[in-house]
Amino acid sequence: MGNVLRVDLSTQKVSTEEPDPAVCREYIGGRGFNSRTLFREIRPGIDPLGPENVVCLATGPFTASGLTSCSRVEVSTLSPYSGILGDGNAGGSFAHFLKKAGYDQIIISGKSKVPLYLWIEDEHVELRDASDLMGLNTWKTTETLYERHGKDISVAAIGQGGENLVRFATLMFDKYNSAARGSGAVLGSKKLKAIAVRGRKNVSLADPDEFRDLARADRDFFLNDPFQKEVVAVYGSHIGMLHWGPGFRNYEKYLSETDVPDTLKPEAWKQFETGRSACRSCVVPCKNSFKIPEGEYEGEVGKALEYECIFCLGTNCGITDPVPIMVQENLADKYGICVIALGNAIAMAKDLYMRGILTDRDTGGLSLDWEDAESQIELVHRTALRQGFGNLVAEGMYSMAKILGNKAMDYCYHVKGLSRGPYPAGVFGLAHATSTRGADHLRGRSWAYGENDPSLWPELVKKGYIPVEDEVKTLILSEEVTTLTDMIGRCKGAVNNWGSAVPLVFKYPLLEGLAKLLRAATGTEFSEETLKNAADRVYLMEMAFNVRQGILIEHARLPLKPGLAGTPKGDLELAKHKAMLERYHILRGCDPETGIPTREKLESLGLGFVADELAEGTENPCGFGKWEGPVLWGLETYPKGTLRA
Ligand code: SF4
Repeated sequence: MGNVLRVDLSTQKVSTEEPDPAVCREYIGGRGFNSRTLFREIRPGIDPLGPENVVCLATGPFTASGLTSCSRVEVSTLSPYSGILGDGNAGGSFAHFLKKAGYDQIIISGKSKVPLYLWIEDEHVELRDASDLMGLNTWKTTETLYERHGKDISVAAIGQGGENLVRFATLMFDKYNSAARGSGAVLGSKKLKAIAVRGRKNVSLADPDEFRDLARADRDFFLNDPFQKEVVAVYGSHIGMLHWGPGFRNYEKYLSETDVPDTLKPEAWKQFETGRSACRSCVVPCKNSFKIPEGEYEGEVGKALEYECIFCLGTNCGITDPVPIMVQENLADKYGICVIALGNAIAMAKDLYMRGILTDRDTGGLSLDWEDAESQIELVHRTALRQGFGNLVAEGMYSMAKILGNKAMDYCYHVKGLSRGPYPAGVFGLAHATSTRGADHLRGRSWAYGENDPSLWPELVKKGYIPVEDEVKTLILSEEVTTLTDMIGRCKGAVNNWGSAVPLVFKYPLLEGLAKLLRAATGTEFSEETLKNAADRVYLMEMAFNVRQGILIEHARLPLKPGLAGTPKGDLELAKHKAMLERYHILRGCDPETGIPTREKLESLGLGFVADELAEGTENPCGFGKWEGPVLWGLETYPKGTLRA
């Protein structure tokens, strides 16, 4: 296993720690390492944009091992966007180089007085002056560091969004790969502009022959599976426009295959496509490269335009012209801001504007008409630069609604500050409610309606690996395998969560292939039971982290539209959700009244110290105050401006 690299920006000291074998066994890597670190090193109630916050980046045990789709880096922090756990998972080459430099995790703490970037070249680690990089967008920052250090490196950078503390600013990896939920803003607050890494060491494996055989069988699945060959490698996530029900006009409805405008269907995007590519060591080229052929933006090129951008900055904002969607994708990548959070904030603002809750006076004369694409592009610039009305949008959907008051919150369909819209009561709505980073498409069974349906994997159901008779149990299993995916550093993009989390899924029982791979890579014995326990350990620790931030069962809500709230039908929906939520918490080993993990369950997972922490207070009843979003600043106090992208 690699070392842990600690970077204290207040003292500008870097140090290296050897990994603890027990931690490696119990937390495996990636999200497991990061969530453990956050629980131990972040005190409850701190300002996420203050020096006390911590940012962790971690690889997995299979990074740079030759196993396909394993070049993912997990980035975790206390999110300034939600005020709870915030983690994002990005592709590219960064994890690969970091691992080859000898590190499994970077832990960044403190705050520098001057702009810096971190340069890692194997054992050589150095904080360097970044004054000349300030104000540059992520693409220019990356290119500048390529010129300085050579192209055989990987660069993680923040743009103007992070520098201006836009609460959903991202850390961008190799220009096009984003780690969301506000890590860019936290690094901006710490004045760390970028991390550049070159790694040249070979990664050692405990049993290379066994590992190679297993990895080959796993790769064969991805290379031969018809869905991979004919859909993912050809259309990437654009296929979601037909099957995943994209939201329309702030979730007024979810579009069916026939509702989706022809201009945004997967085949329509082919006219802009100039090539396809993949993250390092992945055999599924799910990413498109595009070029705008004519018009005002003629010649503009970009990469990795995904379903979430088409839906969040397109249909859900009322935009059906593909060109402004590509333009916004590039702006978001360059400024380093999350397309999902940006789209949600703009969609809600447009909804409020069309209802007269926001007026031209509030927007500084900027039109928020549903179809006004040019005005929306202007708002993206102003948000990244915190100019005019953009300064409010930069606070994110939930905080914007809170600041506006006056019924704005009625149209903010959030769970713990993040949004996927209002869904009916059922396991899909439940999956959004129980996600430990707020409503989200990559925890549990929350990818898209039906996409994580076990019936898509009849062989696994027939063999009894997936408990289809009980949807709440299936959700928990789905959360476990998705958590394991993030712990091993594997991509959830290639297939839905069953296949991506469980390598060799058709050759061995559900988690046995993963146990074999881990043993061949690390030399440590794993079993289905120890793997599930490891996933539960991480998930419950994340729940406990959120309890300390004031999250209780009532925050695992089912967002309802204003027309449904308070009606008998709405009450029935809420009652159904409440019953499922209580059952979920009982099965998870939590108190069904409060949602807080029980001491008994925590101790069974070796988390007695977590139980001790939760017992410290009694008001919520843990004494940490109730969650009301992140600590906010006065709008006039943020840094603003710098160059337009
Ligand atoms: S499937 Fe796509 S996003 Fe996932 S690792 Fe491969 S190229 Fe990257």
